[in-house]
Amino acid sequence: MADKGRKHHRGSHHRQGDKVRVDLRRNRQSRARSQNLTHQMLDNEDTAADTPQSERVTARGDLFRRRTMVGVRAEGDQLLRVVDESTCRRGRVVSFIGLTIQVRCDSTGEEFACSVRGILRSLARDARNVVVTGDCVLFRQEGDACQGVIERVEPRHGILSRGSQGREHILVANIDQVLIVASAADPEFRPQLVDRYLICAEERGILPIVCVSKIDLADLRSMLPNLRAFARAGCVVVPASIRTGQGISRLRHLLAGRQTAVSGQSGVGKSSLLNAIDPALGLATADVSGWTHKGTHTTRRARLVNLSMGGWVCDTPGIRQFELWNLTGDDVGGYFPEFRPFLRYCRFPNCAHSHEESCGIRQAVSSGLLSEVRYASYLRLREEDIWAWKNPARGQPGSRDES
Ligand code: GDP
Repeated sequence: MADKGRKHHRGSHHRQGDKVRVDLRRNRQSRARSQNLTHQMLDNEDTAADTPQSERVTARGDLFRRRTMVGVRAEGDQLLRVVDESTCRRGRVVSFIGLTIQVRCDSTGEEFACSVRGILRSLARDARNVVVTGDCVLFRQEGDACQGVIERVEPRHGILSRGSQGREHILVANIDQVLIVASAADPEFRPQLVDRYLICAEERGILPIVCVSKIDLADLRSMLPNLRAFARAGCVVVPASIRTGQGISRLRHLLAGRQTAVSGQSGVGKSSLLNAIDPALGLATADVSGWTHKGTHTTRRARLVNLSMGGWVCDTPGIRQFELWNLTGDDVGGYFPEFRPFLRYCRFPNCAHSHEESCGIRQAVSSGLLSEVRYASYLRLREEDIWAWKNPARGQPGSRDES
């Protein structure tokens, strides 16, 4: 795989413009296209130092061509093109409209409809995620006033992704935190869905904030065990309602100046909350009459919007087929942070905390030190079919997430 072939770049420090050995992924059917890539590179004053030196086929049947390239430098595990920064603008990818990528210029705030310089597709570790929402990019204005070409994607941090047909699909990049919204009612409260997002956030090292919305529709006391369970899991928990105004100023404070992905089923009130937090947003919401218990889908594709008080939010719609990327059922326990202090009381190092005698987790649950709700969720998640993508024979996983 490309990844494997590039291991030698990791941690290496190249000066700008050093020669770098690169595996160019090549579509086996389109030899002509890869020749075009060479032309594009030369057109853009990048120099291919050598002709292709070797070809190899990976286990997955992908064909790679190894070459030494000038005009590329390695940073972490990413390959970055060296471009003339004085002729480029900096911007942020705010959305995708078909094949066009909308980029907001950092200095002027104008939006440009951009395409991607072809060579970036070859340099990307994963052809599916060459450019994603939230990316910081260098782009060059080309053609009409508000059109451009993305020349470079800067290294990412804080990625939220999901699996889709066994491959990673990045929903949004460069986020500091994720606001997980679950409604107390209408649609019914589904703590397990929150737990899945929490695992995802924990795995990615992203700060989770759990907002239990529409709290005006529920009896707060009956919700307390769940709210406490999330708090014990180490996240900020905010019960909120746009009807009573509860929790809104706290959320405003938590989101100000930060880069936040907003997640949750459609209909839980994400857009309504964001409008309450920052009325300038004016996001479309499902009106009361149009809302059905089955779930109308007002949520649009991911779009990143700036907040008046600084920072931005990105709605990450579509958690259908939500799979936890890169994990197996056995890994789940590691992502329940509140379990950690009790693990040393387990007799067996590979304890599943399900049936074993002398299990620290089970003892902590029965003595009230760990939440029963979270423990039940742990057991269910372990058994869930969200891991099924690892075993394609089991078919399409996770499709029952969203009602
Ligand atoms: P989204 O799909 O998550 O963006 O949800 P919307 O913001 O479109 O809201 C879905 C429905 O829930 C709308 O009819 C809202 O009026 C309603 N809603 C949103 N927040 C609240 C709330 O705090 N309390 C009540 N009772 N209804 C709410």
